[in-house]
Order: sequence, then structure tokens, then C-alpha cells
Amino acid sequence: MSWTKPVIAGNWKMNKGPRAARDFVAEFAARHAPADKTTVILFPPAISVSAVANSLSGRRDVYVGVQNIYFEKDGAFTGETSAGMAKESGATFALIGHSERRHIFGETDQAVRKKVGAALAVGLTPVICVGETLEQRNAGKVQDVITSQLYVAIEDLSAEQAHAFLVAYEPVWAIGTGVTATPEDASEAHAVLRTLLREKLGAEGDVVPILYGGSVKPENAAELLMADGVDGLLIGGASLDPEGFATIARLGAST
Ligand code: PEP
Repeated sequence: MSWTKPVIAGNWKMNKGPRAARDFVAEFAARHAPADKTTVILFPPAISVSAVANSLSGRRDVYVGVQNIYFEKDGAFTGETSAGMAKESGATFALIGHSERRHIFGETDQAVRKKVGAALAVGLTPVICVGETLEQRNAGKVQDVITSQLYVAIEDLSAEQAHAFLVAYEPVWAIGTGVTATPEDASEAHAVLRTLLREKLGAEGDVVPILYGGSVKPENAAELLMADGVDGLLIGGASLDPEGFATIARLGAST
């Protein structure tokens, strides 16, 4: 799987069933013409993945992904979706370790590691999310926290897999709060993650895109996209509006 940077990804969280998802795709596609210079990924709820995938037919610049997977292939795991099932429904990407999964559903670093393995095993591209809480930031622990989250998540990977995953830096204090990291904060954290990727994967560590996420809106997207080390954006709340999300995608195509 290859992608063009910047990557503009929208996490709809638990919003938009199949009908609303189809309406979104029609409105977004009308506002954002196919652009060679950007890859767009939509992360609807799992129940809407096939509706989005079917509505996207013909768009080679827009992909669909799931917001979570379970690491087992199948079995008695009520309510869960396996990586293979997500792929079969039309997903190409999987968000893994989103802060809401970690903090609301108790997902551990080890579960994240297993989910990364399960996604790669079926050819689903993981977008591995890491980020510190406000308490950890105030205690000067940003580097330690995001390094250890990413270290565990990519523990089983080798340099040959550098083209098969993405990373998203999403400070927990910026998600859904309206408070955005400054471009300098984002660049600093991205540099920490890039160093770890190089240590683990060698020169290939440079090919892994690192996205920023946390209260990105059409008004602040350009400055974050231009920040050093930022290869794209992961957008929650502001990705629900097709017009605003198309504005951000167009900014991506013009940076
Ligand atoms: C997210 O859900 O990944 C996110 C970044 O949310 P928001 O843009 O609403 O802060």
C-alpha cells in the first residue's frame, strides 16, 4: 500500500450510520476533486464501513478504515470485529490505540501491539495513535510516555514493514477539547517519534508518516500542516462536516 503525503484522515467516532455516511461521501466528493497530492482516509463506525467503501467507488485518493479491531481472528468475542472482517468490509486502514480506546475502554500497550500485528497479518494498514495526558505533560513526561507507547506498539516490526503503517501523535488534552497543540509542540513530539522510528527501523524509519491530531479545524489546519515533521492530520469533530473536512483536504493538496 502506498500513499501520498500529506494524509488527511477523519475519525467520525460513534457518529453516522450507513445512510448518513453515504450522504457525507456524496457531499464531500462534490467538494473535493481527486487530488494527486493528498491521501484522504475516512474512519466511520464499523457498521458504516461498507456503505462508505461502496459510495467511494472510483475515488483512488480516498480510503476507508475502521476505528478499532480485535486481535483474534474469530471466536467468542461478542461485539468485536476482527482485522479480516474489517478488510472484507472494504477497510484499508485501521486506527489502533486511539486515546478513547485507551482511556474509556482500558486498552493497554500490549493490546495495541497485538492489534498492530493482527492488522498487518491481513494487509490492513495500522494508524498507531499515541499521546500524553495533561497530567503527564505537566510532569514533563511527554517524551517518556509517547516513546514507550510507540516502542511497544512496533516492537514486533522490522524495517521491511516501514511502508505498512502510519503513526498519529494525538495529545489527549487536545482531543475534543478545542485546545490545539502549537505547531512547535507538535514538531517537538513528532521529532521524538521520528527518532524512535529510526532507532527501530533504520533509514526506513523516515518513510513512516506521522500525523498530528487534536482539535484540528479548517482555521488552524494550515499552520499545523506546515509544522516541521507533520506529515498529515487526524481530525475528529471537524471531520463530521463534509464542507469543513473538504476545506482541510484542499489545504492538504495545496501545501
Ligand atoms: C480524534 O478523535 O482523533 C481527534 C483528534 O478528535 P478532535 O479532532 O475532535 O480533537
